This record gives sequence, structure tokens and C-alpha cells, in this order.
Amino acid sequence: ILVVIFISTASLCFGAYLARLNSPTGKIMKLAAGESRILIPATFCLFLNSGLFILLPYFGGQFVQMVGSNTGVTSEELNQITEKIVVVAVASSITSMIRGMLFVLAGERIVRELRKQVFHALLRQEVAFFDVQTTGALVSRLTNDTQTLQNAASSNISIFLRCSSSLLLSLIVMFVTSWKLTLAMLATVPVVSILAAIMGHFQRKVSKKYQDETAELGNIASETFGNLRTVRAFQSGERLMEKKYCDASDQVYLYGWKRSMIYGAWSGVVGLLFFVAFTVVLRFGAGLVERGEMQSGDLISFVLYTVSLSGSVAMLGSIMPAFSAAIGATQKIFEITDRIPAQSDGLLDPVECKGKLEFEKVCFTYATRPDAMVLKNVSFQAESNQVVALVGQSGSGKTSCVSLLQRLYDCQSGAVKIDGVDVKELKFSYLRRNMAVVSQEPILFAISARENIAFGVEEADQGKLEEAAKLANCHGFISEWEKGYDTLVGERGIQLSGGQKQRVAIARAILANPTILLLDEATSALDAESEGMVQEALEQLMKQREGRTFLVIAHRLSTVKDADVIVVLSSGECVETGTHEELLAKGSVYKGLVQRQLDLRR
Ligand code: ADP
Ligand code: MG
Repeated sequence: ILVVIFISTASLCFGAYLARLNSPTGKIMKLAAGESRILIPATFCLFLNSGLFILLPYFGGQFVQMVGSNTGVTSEELNQITEKIVVVAVASSITSMIRGMLFVLAGERIVRELRKQVFHALLRQEVAFFDVQTTGALVSRLTNDTQTLQNAASSNISIFLRCSSSLLLSLIVMFVTSWKLTLAMLATVPVVSILAAIMGHFQRKVSKKYQDETAELGNIASETFGNLRTVRAFQSGERLMEKKYCDASDQVYLYGWKRSMIYGAWSGVVGLLFFVAFTVVLRFGAGLVERGEMQSGDLISFVLYTVSLSGSVAMLGSIMPAFSAAIGATQKIFEITDRIPAQSDGLLDPVECKGKLEFEKVCFTYATRPDAMVLKNVSFQAESNQVVALVGQSGSGKTSCVSLLQRLYDCQSGAVKIDGVDVKELKFSYLRRNMAVVSQEPILFAISARENIAFGVEEADQGKLEEAAKLANCHGFISEWEKGYDTLVGERGIQLSGGQKQRVAIARAILANPTILLLDEATSALDAESEGMVQEALEQLMKQREGRTFLVIAHRLSTVKDADVIVVLSSGECVETGTHEELLAKGSVYKGLVQRQLDLRR
């Protein structure tokens, strides 16, 4: 018992020492510390279990000693030892059961917590962060890496503790039995340690690569199946994607191959160690027994201890790859959870929003393309209850203006203001509460039509929901479905046409009832008929101008014509502003755009 207490304390101190360091191991320990209520009893059972296990070679030795003794042995004596062994076996199986359950449970709890943390941390990151990250890599963080960590932080810690404690206990008992023989056996250890260190190093390197390549594999798959229609539409699409996937698979395999070679080499070394130790013990031990320094029963116990010791070393070696993988995974996971978002939330949260918009000498570049200035000194404004239209060729920076208003990105100089306050000073919640967007490619989620429309509001009653749907021209087709508003749309449910999707997206914006409504080329991706339907919905919407500001990006002149202010962008510069009539009278760029559209009509 004293030994158990000693080792528990020692390993706790060791754990605390590791946790102090800001290393991946320390972080794994910290996660484990969060589950200490489960892990402490589990560890206790584990040490108890190891302690019980260590008794078996002792009993084995006693048996042989009795049978081999000159005085003879009674069956009563033998039964006594057998009874002891049965008691130990029962106790060992109970502790083993509790230990197993608790460690796996702790692992599940750790991974649950970790997944939530990673998801939360990802949601906090600014949009620019996602411009550089691939979806596959992020999904891999959430699923594969957390899973890898789960194993390391639970069952592997358990195996590690069990093996190292039984290793230590075996050693102590062996020393007590015969220190000479123990030292002889330990002579093999330095060789193994050096080899283990070298292999550990390679193992970690290869594991990290293996994980990177696995993430890439996920990336290619999600890109392929996420855009299957486009992949199918082109002659070499499938072949190209398949080749990319196969190449990435081969890469994963390559590192897997290396991993298995290292693992195999380690197993070989451990096997060799076992035979060397076994032979050394037998040879030296025989000498000691001959000289009367040791009893033959003790030698048998000793040999059995050597076997169990080698087993522990082999087991420790076999979990090494998992630990290396976990360290790689931890690094990547904590890169995300420790990352401070480049955008911070503003402090101001005005109760009211009037909807006055201002762009003041806004200059903006995307972080991914620092040399290309997307907006150059752009200035314009819109009063509340007004419609401001942004026009200009594709790539002139219209969508970027919308993104800045939503604060998806921050401008480098100048200011974007709402009611005279810089958006950087306003709370995200304020911006989201008072703004809604209908974009070029509407996104519906794999949830019911109702939930899709009510996506932007905390609670919505059916009346308001239907009212919004009617205004957006989508009540008709939704109510024709068997399950009506409860029909699942998107993946796993009814697939909508582009025009239908867009109308659901408009209903979502109407229901959100924002002061500022951003319409970014809501009709441009549609065919003529659905464009008509959507256009009608938009016009309905824009009639309710009271208390609302519209920022409209449209290539259709009919939408733009009635705007209070038209801002003409060209290569990120604001070249003309004014009403339709003013611009036709004096402007040249706008006149060109109008002329081209009229030509197209003809
Ligand atoms: P518009 O909406 O007028 O067609 P955008 O505002 O979408 O134009 O784009 C303006 C410029 O910014 C384009 O040159 C485009 O390539 C670039 N751009 C848009 N989005 C990004 C992004 N996320 N990262 C880097 N460059 C971008
Ligand atoms: Mg655009």
C-alpha cells in the first residue's frame, strides 16, 4: 500500500510538472485535470490493479519453491495459495473493470468538451481567417484531431500509467529479491532507451505529416462532393478530382508506411530486449542459485517478473505512436483555441438604429491579396428611408462594400459608419440585429423551411412567418408541399430551384425586419422567369420604405433607376454619384452602363 501511495503521489507530481509547462503534453494534462473527479478514482483502481498483478509472479515462485522443497508439500498448503490467487484474481478483475470504464468515460467527456471549445473558437474567428484555411483542415481539427486526443488523454494515459507503474513495482520487487540479478538485467536498458528516443523523434515527425495529409484528403473529398454538379458537368472533372484524391491517398499511405516501419522496428527491438533480458536472468540466476545466493523459487519469480516487465515495455512502445499523434493533434487544436481573433467586438450598442449609412474615404485590401487595393477612397452616404444603389462592372468592389458594412472585414483607412458611428465601435450583435442581407447565391441550411426563414430571429410566430413568405413570393410553393413549412429543404430534403431558394432567402430577410437591408445582386443568378418572381418580391419589399435603408446592388436598371443615390464604382474607385437623371445628364460611366444594357435588350 505504501508503494502504491508513493507512486500515485510521484505520478501526480509529474503530471503537475508537465501541466505547468505550456507544452502539448501539459495541455493534455490540463484537459485531463478537468476530469479529475473521474480520473482520480480511475487512477487509484489502476494502481491497485497493478499492485495485485505484481503478486502473481510471487505466488508462482512460492508454488515452485514448495513443490521443489525437500520437506514435501501438503495439498492444504497448495489450496491456501490457490485461494489467495482466486481472491487476487477477483479483486483484479473488479478494479480492472472500473478502471477501464472510468478512463474511457473520461476520454469521451474530454473530447466532448474539446469539440465544443474548438467549434466556439472557430466561430469567433474573423472571416479573413477562413479565407486562408481550408474547410477540410478545419473539419479535421473538429473530428480527427479531437478523436486522436481523446484516445491519448484517456485509454492511452491509462495504459501508460498502468505499464509504467507495474514496471516500477516489478523493478522494486526485483531489487528486493536480488539486486545483483536486477542490475545485470538492467544493463540492457540504456541501449533500448537510446533507440526509443531516436524512434520517438521520427515517429513524431511522420505522425504530423500523416495528419496534414489526411486533412488534405478530407479537403479534396468535400470539394468534390460539395460541387458535384460542376465536377460532373465537365469532361475531365471526375478524372481530375479522382486523381487528386488518389495522389493524396498515396501520400497518406507513404507516411503510413513509414509509420508502420518505425513501429515494426520498435517491436523488433523490444522483442530482442526480451530475449536478451530473459537469457541474462536465466544464466546469471542459475549461477546465483548454484552458489546458494538465491533460492530456485525466487529465480522463477524473477523470470516471471522479467516477462511482465518486458510486456510493460512493449506495451509502452506500442502506445508511443498514439502519443506522438496526440501531440501533433494537440498543437493544431490549440493553435485554434488559443488564437485571438484579429477583429474585436465593438463596445457600443445603441438602442435605436435610424439607418444612416456613410462611407468616408474608405480604403480596403483583402489580407490574402495585400498588393491589390480593392476600394480606393470610396465615399458616399445614404440617409434613413433612402435607397442607395451601387453599380459598376463585376470586380469593381460592390460586394466588398457590403462586407465592410456587415463588418466581415475591416477597412484599412477611412470609416464605414452607421448613424455616424464607426462600425468598428459597434457591437456585432447590434450590426446583426439591424442588418440583413440577401446575396447573390442564397444559402439554405439542411433544416425545415420554417427554420430557414426564421434563421435570423429568436422567435417567430406562424402569422408573421407566412406574411413574410407571402411578401417574398414563396408562400405558394411552400404550402403546396405535403409537410408545408416543416419540409426539410436542401440536403436530405426537397431541393429548391435557384429562384425558389432566393425567395426563401428574401423571406428570411423580411422576417428579420432590419433597419438596413442589403441586397447584393439578388436576381443576377436567375433565369428570366424566376428573376421576374424575385424582382416582384424585391419591389414589394422596397415599397415598405418607412424606417428602412436599402443598399442595393443590381444590374437591372429598373431596380437602380428609382434609387435616391446611385454610386458608380470602377476598379474600386467611386467615379460618379447622383440620381438616375443627374447621372444621365452629366455622368459618362453610368451613361455607358445604361447604354450597354439598352443595347442588350435590343
Ligand atoms: P463586385 O461585387 O463588384 O463584383 P467584389 O467586391 O466582389 O466585386 O470584388 C472586388 C475585388 O476584390 C475583385 O478583384 C476580387 O477579386 C477581390 N476579392 C473579392 N473577395 C475577395 C477575397 N475574399 N479575397 C481576396 N480578394 C477578393
Ligand atoms: Mg459582387
